[in-house]
Amino acid sequence: MSLLEEQDTGNQMTTTRADAVKRYPKLGQLIAGEMKYGDGRSTMDVIDPTTGITLGPVSMATEADADEAVDAASAGFGVWRKTSAFERSRLLRRVADRMRERAEALAELLVLELGKPWNEALGEVEVAAGMWEWAAEEGRRAYGRVIPSREGNARQLVLVEPVGPVAAFVTWNGPLVTPSRKMSGALGAGCSIVLRASEEVPACAFALGQIVYECGLPAGVLSVLSGDPVMLSNKWLESPVTRAVTFTGSTQVGKLLSQQAVAHMKRPIMELGGHAPVLAFDGIDVQTFAERAVAAKFANSGQVCFAPTRFYVERSIYADVVDAMTAEAKKIIVGCGFDPSTRMGPLKSERRLRAVEELIADAKRCGFRVTTGGTRLDRPGFFYAPTIVADATTEAKLSNTEPFGPIAALTPFDTYDEAINLANRLPYGLGAYVHAREFETLHRATDDLEAGNVICNGWRVTYPETPFGGHKESGMFSEGGVEGLRAFQNVKYASLS
Ligand code: NAD
Repeated sequence: MSLLEEQDTGNQMTTTRADAVKRYPKLGQLIAGEMKYGDGRSTMDVIDPTTGITLGPVSMATEADADEAVDAASAGFGVWRKTSAFERSRLLRRVADRMRERAEALAELLVLELGKPWNEALGEVEVAAGMWEWAAEEGRRAYGRVIPSREGNARQLVLVEPVGPVAAFVTWNGPLVTPSRKMSGALGAGCSIVLRASEEVPACAFALGQIVYECGLPAGVLSVLSGDPVMLSNKWLESPVTRAVTFTGSTQVGKLLSQQAVAHMKRPIMELGGHAPVLAFDGIDVQTFAERAVAAKFANSGQVCFAPTRFYVERSIYADVVDAMTAEAKKIIVGCGFDPSTRMGPLKSERRLRAVEELIADAKRCGFRVTTGGTRLDRPGFFYAPTIVADATTEAKLSNTEPFGPIAALTPFDTYDEAINLANRLPYGLGAYVHAREFETLHRATDDLEAGNVICNGWRVTYPETPFGGHKESGMFSEGGVEGLRAFQNVKYASLS
């Protein structure tokens, strides 16, 4: 049974929340291409963040499921690594096409599970499809090289090979893009993969897994499971089959998994937390900056690892920026993702809502000025108002802990060095933004900012073809771009004479 079979409603005008809720699919464990339901597996509720009500159950994998998936990955790798890069490429491209054909059905799941506005959900489908397309292209270019030999008759080759079966773990804030990055990267490089779906947004990952099989993936190359993360990570990391571990989530869990991976000598590919600084220098167009900064800040309700969070603004334009961003944030209509007027949906969970409430309460105790928002919205679900906090100093939790929610904190600065020091003072190093008119400032800041992604005079951080990864405690290795495939490849030196 296809998870998306009855869901393709065509367009937003005919998709109501109530209908979408009725269509929420029954979820099992996708092991080696077969969806397995029931059999006494325990379940957990998937919660609709727009209402706080259960959408449906997600089943929890058993230890036998975990073993079966990793055994399948071992057999699947034997098949997939021998499949030509051209054939693999054709399959990955079919996945991209199929995702675009089923864009509305996938967007519906995204709105249901994460609460994001419809257009943002459609945007996520397109970005995710682009990742498959990119991996299809780049997977064909796993080029090695020939090194001139010191011996007359030798050919010295550098070969690029898939690293082996991959274990993947994802968080909930990019229900389609995060599994797509991991699946398309691993499969494009010739690896098999077992992926643990987020228990909070599982349907998207399962629907994606099914699409990949509908496009002709040999059985066993991919499995998607949901269940106890500790059991699954122990099983898959301890298995001699697994050769690399890829995780997207918090730095805290990333450190644990990396230690475990290294203990078993598996490559840890880590995409972790961030608390992205924005440096805004005098000379920029304040109104344009404010409009775009607010759009970037509140996308996905601020639940984005590279979301701009700490705004350092040159003192001469500080008051104007605070006012303009406050005015823009006030215009945001918060509501249900199926309502066409909605610009921002709820937070994912009560847990995230409480975390944001605590950060704001602490910020107020420290004397920060809340210029708009700062409260939970009085309605069912997990809604929090778009929030701007001015006059932030370094002592509050908000200045040091990733907010992962709809909060922008603004601080004035007087000199370039002060701004760079503020930006670099945290252990995070994922995204950073610079807005300035002088090229010299942009060039200097690009060099001086300790981050894996520095965006000057813009807000878009990732494309399928560009590498994305964190420095410092924000991660190891990159996803996306040529580097995203390399993370899943080994280099082999061969000498033929
Ligand atoms: P989290 O680390 O608490 O949880 C992430 C996922 O890992 C959950 O599904 C959880 O069940 C699972 N998990 C927990 N323990 C595990 C274990 N031992 N083994 C395997 N999986 C385990 O993170 P969160 O708070 O749910 O997610 C938000 C975080 O993710 C933020 O820090 C955000 O910045 C980060 N993130 C990073 C990127 C990136 O690409 N750098 C992208 C998205 C989100």
